[in-house]
Amino acid sequence: MRRTKIICTLGPSSAEYGILLEVVRAGMDVARINFSHGDPAFYHHAVRLVRRVSQELKKPVAILADLQGIKIRIGEVEQGAVELEKGSSVVVLPGEGVTTAQKLYIRYEPLLEDLKVGDDILLDDGLIKLKVQEKFADRLHATVLEGGVLRSRKGVHFPRTNTSARTFTEKDQRDLEMAVHLGVDYVALSFVRDGEDIARVRSWARERGFRLPPLIAKIERKEALHAAEEIAQEADGLMVARGDLGVEAPIEMVPVYQKMLVKLAKERGKIAIIATQMLESMRESSSPTRAEVTDIANAVLDGADALMLSAETAIGKYPVLATQMMHTVVEATERHLASRIPSFYRPRGMLPEAIVFGALQTACNVNARALVVFTHSGFTALVLSSFRPGMPILALTPEEETARQLALVWGVLPEVLDVPEEAESITLLRRAEEILLGRKLARPGDPVVFVASSPFLGYRNLIRLHRLGEPFTEEGIPPGTPAPEPTG
Ligand code: PGA
Ligand code: MN
Repeated sequence: MRRTKIICTLGPSSAEYGILLEVVRAGMDVARINFSHGDPAFYHHAVRLVRRVSQELKKPVAILADLQGIKIRIGEVEQGAVELEKGSSVVVLPGEGVTTAQKLYIRYEPLLEDLKVGDDILLDDGLIKLKVQEKFADRLHATVLEGGVLRSRKGVHFPRTNTSARTFTEKDQRDLEMAVHLGVDYVALSFVRDGEDIARVRSWARERGFRLPPLIAKIERKEALHAAEEIAQEADGLMVARGDLGVEAPIEMVPVYQKMLVKLAKERGKIAIIATQMLESMRESSSPTRAEVTDIANAVLDGADALMLSAETAIGKYPVLATQMMHTVVEATERHLASRIPSFYRPRGMLPEAIVFGALQTACNVNARALVVFTHSGFTALVLSSFRPGMPILALTPEEETARQLALVWGVLPEVLDVPEEAESITLLRRAEEILLGRKLARPGDPVVFVASSPFLGYRNLIRLHRLGEPFTEEGIPPGTPAPEPTG
């Protein structure tokens, strides 16, 4: 049983019924819709498709809408491509103009305010490098330090510059409104700078009366590294966005930041995602490199909740094989190195933590086969997962949205509870037992622990040790044990 979750980016290679069915069977837990590409028709199609496949396979699948943020790009290039020669001089301008070998137009309004003499301009993920030599009121002059062929709409980075523009652009606002209407389960925001960027999204939504799904902050600019703690505080999760991060920051620091950011998120019980180039070679090849396989294994050992595939499943040749490969590598790592998966969680003294920790202790003491958590919002399941317990976590919830969201959370097997709210608590526990047996998570006679930290079907909170198959009578409980308190 795999515990670390898999996110697959949808695109032309995977957003087709028959293929997506196979991708989900191969292990996809979360579908990422990248709002940097595609159009409203594609987003609608993708959401409908995921919901349909998820329903047919009876597997909760979350949808993560990934907003583009202030990705800085050039516009069109003359004839589609120009060669920037090493040592040549280039005039650099803000705006939408057509780029030539002599004139580079960057779609970034505050370009002339933000850049100084001596700053670097990286193009196309750092393949081409320019240095600003002179600054005028209306333009910059730069020399090409590393040359190469530049194509239209390539990305731009200023690794030495403190950029002033904030993310959550007008496009992001339109996209977020659409994502909310489409009912996505998570939203990721690109190029977050600090905690305020997240707070701005929340107040924007509040003003409009939108109910926001949990927010994932993508850490991919250098300013965010300095503000990582406050971002982890404000957001519901962090994504280590290694693609842009490896251009903004020294590439050799990516593994260091990866470990630091996962720990930072998990200490606070927030979601941690590791993204980009995990199986890059499988865009073109049906098998991965040894280095990629090892990277996946190490990401599991860093303690992430989920690992993400991008181009591999969006535009690659082998979306199903790539997902299968990620599944196989994660599972092997977890099987052989389970004891090395860290729990960084630092309880802060909340009631759910105390209940969950008690349940976990009980489960460890009796060597329980499974933990069953009853949850409305999913919070208790997230806390339980954050302790990284060795046994399976079955999360039962009346809310479909919660079940989908928990598909992203490490070790949690979510299922929608098909028992009416007003049912007797014994009915509920019996149903949980049936599900455990049906999913082969435990066998008759096995000890399991039930836990709920908020009012759930008559219990205010609950830790209950149970041996599968034994009757759920209240007999046999030592005298003096208070009965569970019913809540209205
Ligand atoms: P992107 O974000 O794929 O949207 O660029 C991830 C990354 O930068 O790694
Ligand atoms: Mn990025």
